Amino acid sequence: MKKRHLCCSLFAMGVVLSACQSNGSANEPQPSEPQQEAVENEQEENMRTISYTVGEDDAKVSVDELIQTLDGELTFDELHRTLEMTIHEDQYKLIDGVTVLERNGEYLATDEIYLIEEEGELYLPVAFLEVGLGLEVTFQEKEVAFQWFGPAERVGGPPEGFDFDEWDVDTMVDYLSFLERPIQGAQVSTIDSHLPGAPREYRNGFHEGIDWYDFATGGNISRETPVYAMAEGIVVRADHDFEDYESPEVRNADLALTAELGETPEYIFDRLRGQQVWVQYPNGVMNRFAHLSGIPEDLQVGDRVNAETVIGYVGNSGTSSAVNGNLDDDLHLHQDLLIYGELFWKPLTLEETKEVLQKIWP
Ligand SMILES: [Zn+2]
Repeated sequence: MKKRHLCCSLFAMGVVLSACQSNGSANEPQPSEPQQEAVENEQEENMRTISYTVGEDDAKVSVDELIQTLDGELTFDELHRTLEMTIHEDQYKLIDGVTVLERNGEYLATDEIYLIEEEGELYLPVAFLEVGLGLEVTFQEKEVAFQWFGPAERVGGPPEGFDFDEWDVDTMVDYLSFLERPIQGAQVSTIDSHLPGAPREYRNGFHEGIDWYDFATGGNISRETPVYAMAEGIVVRADHDFEDYESPEVRNADLALTAELGETPEYIFDRLRGQQVWVQYPNGVMNRFAHLSGIPEDLQVGDRVNAETVIGYVGNSGTSSAVNGNLDDDLHLHQDLLIYGELFWKPLTLEETKEVLQKIWP
């Protein structure tokens, strides 16, 4: 099996070689035997294999074996259930239960990659190799094979010298002013508890985003209120198969755990945000739209959207009202703005954050 793949790669290499030759003289000599052998040796040297197993869903590889084979590093945070990996110069992050892959603070338009835990062992779908690492993978009987070259430069992420931590109000306004408001005609709330940094005692944490409630934004918010994509971007998450907490008890169990821990683990935080759509914009800006009541059927991960695209409808999914069956209570859009994976307001005080929001959505 391995031999056959090698032949295929050599054939591909041959095509490249002849393509190069066509630019020069037609009579240029063919690669000599030793050259051929050198190519062959290099191919063999760069060949890596990782064993895979086929589970209920996809073919998957062990994270430990992957990291070992690629000479990377990994951290799995048991509390937050987050996996962070460093491979070459690239940083990858996944949250258990969330089908979004973060690479260098940007989110990839794929819903094929998610964390799998089986008998205490972590796995990733083989799609991680293809989509996450950009590798061409060949399936063999029990292994996936691919060519591995290094060192490689970082893919995307913040530019050299990106000093986000030092930004003031004006820098932030300049950076974010391309974003239209998510609800047409609504005024951004000035109530502290609707803004980033406000305490959220029910889950032992802090509010990370901006809430758009009817009474604080000029009115007219209902379950039919459309939410717009705010700017040109790409959909990186669309929870079409969303299922809310099956009962108040299950949600309360999550909240009890936050009380025990004194903070909100990331995987629980994600459930509490309810039905979500995430949109990645240029320059590392990303927005999470949360607590939605629905998503347009034809909206898909990978779709290009703009400020006129409806990405969902205001709701209350993930809240105690929704799980208690009170579908019209506590209706609001919650949105989180991130810059290369960091909440935008991290370098600012609450007063400064308010000023930024008032300036970008006057
Ligand atoms: Zn909120």
